[in-house]
Amino acid sequence: MSRKVRVRFAPSPTGGLHMGGMRTILYNYLFARQNGGEFVLRIEDTDQTRYVPGAEEYIFECLKWAGLEPDESPLKPGQFGPYRQSERKPMYRSYAEKLVKDGNAYYAFDTPEELERMRQEFKSEGNASPQYDRLTRGNMRNSLTLSNEEVEKLLSEGTPHVIRIKMPESETISFTDMIRGEVSFDSSLVDDKVLLKADGMPTYHLAVVVDDYLMQITHAFRGEEWLPSAPVHILLWKYLFGIDAMPQWAHLPLILGPNGKLSKRDGEKYGFPVFAMNWTDPRTNHTAEGFREKGFLPEAFINLLALLGWNDGTDQELFTLEELVQKFSIDRVHSAGAKFDYEKAKWFNQEWIKRKSDAELAPLVKQLLATVAIAPTDETLVRVIGLVKERCQLLPDFVQQSSFFFEAPKQLDLDAVKPKWNDAKRLFFAELIRNFQLTQTWVGADLERNCKEIAAANNIKPGEVMLPLRIMLVGGKFGPGVFDIVEIIGKEETISRIEKALHLL
Ligand code: GLU
Repeated sequence: MSRKVRVRFAPSPTGGLHMGGMRTILYNYLFARQNGGEFVLRIEDTDQTRYVPGAEEYIFECLKWAGLEPDESPLKPGQFGPYRQSERKPMYRSYAEKLVKDGNAYYAFDTPEELERMRQEFKSEGNASPQYDRLTRGNMRNSLTLSNEEVEKLLSEGTPHVIRIKMPESETISFTDMIRGEVSFDSSLVDDKVLLKADGMPTYHLAVVVDDYLMQITHAFRGEEWLPSAPVHILLWKYLFGIDAMPQWAHLPLILGPNGKLSKRDGEKYGFPVFAMNWTDPRTNHTAEGFREKGFLPEAFINLLALLGWNDGTDQELFTLEELVQKFSIDRVHSAGAKFDYEKAKWFNQEWIKRKSDAELAPLVKQLLATVAIAPTDETLVRVIGLVKERCQLLPDFVQQSSFFFEAPKQLDLDAVKPKWNDAKRLFFAELIRNFQLTQTWVGADLERNCKEIAAANNIKPGEVMLPLRIMLVGGKFGPGVFDIVEIIGKEETISRIEKALHLL
């Protein structure tokens, strides 16, 4: 009988979630949904020295914003809890002890000074990166070199010690990756990783295997950077639970920035967000910009992430989450790095802005306008959004594209008007004001007709007065149709803005 699909995202709460982490979440989520399975969020916080306050809450918030909420998590425990590894601490020791008993792991009592001495000695012999492995373990203080009595004595005295895996010599360790196919490692090149630390906490390597087993995980999607750890994990599966119980793995391709592997620093260097949401490091108070705050819609963010490493084989580029659930297939994820292109990312957002209804966008735009102390009525706001949304790539663009509907522009680009300004135009605008004053019904199309008639009567081409009128109302050479603006801002405001500009000209 095939097992129910269960996948997990297992972040360490050490900082903000960048694009790569979010894409891992997304692929896990899609795979789970597609297979009627479950998506688990497990917090891997066994390395207390790297724990960063706030990082866990930040992860929950990112998942919520993106609409990728897990079925089980520390906030929503299922039957496989706890969902934080630090709270599972008592579960791991027995597995580590079993490995020692079976001869697959050993106690190591070396002090930090002894370890340092080993590194120095090895370096002086010309070894580039000395490590605790088959070459060095024989010279160290561990249960492979000490007598049983000595080991018993050290243990009973409570001597600080760790448990290390004993990597076998010259063994080929392989597995079939869902994306890369057959992948093999030479066991002789891998060091004897610590599995259980002196404080009794497991390391990532032991905890990830034990928890994937206990939580009945069937598939694991993770970043390519975890591939070097795979041989250790495979052996642990083999020694503890049998290789058949091991989840199927997919190591996702790297995301590439303008200069090779996308780094967190690229964001600042090239001016694009790397994190899902703004992340303020509590240790430095430095804030790195996020896609959310930059003005991306979650739908667009998900869409662009999905295509960083996958496509459906057609030209289709815009996908809803539901479509992705249907169409995503791990066979079409490529192993080569996926290039992130910020211009393309903005294009996705613009397309998603267009796809959203004006009413759906209204609360988001309202929030942004509130930051510049503009509080429009819902009705007007929805109309304005309909007029300007084609021009907005990022949500904050709405502020620039729509503020003038609600307040007179603070600055007028009169330099664009002055060179061709003359008495005929001044007369035209004076007449236009009079005409507007007498107009009872305020409809853009009628006003435009009046305006053209007055221009014709004054021997002015309508085109010549449109730009000055726009600048008087908007402040610059942008915005939707002039008479759409005139209609929305209303009679009094239109006249007042024209008069003000005439004074300045
Ligand atoms: N805790 C690891 C991380 O921070 C999880 C890696 C894995 O998925 O096995 O990414």
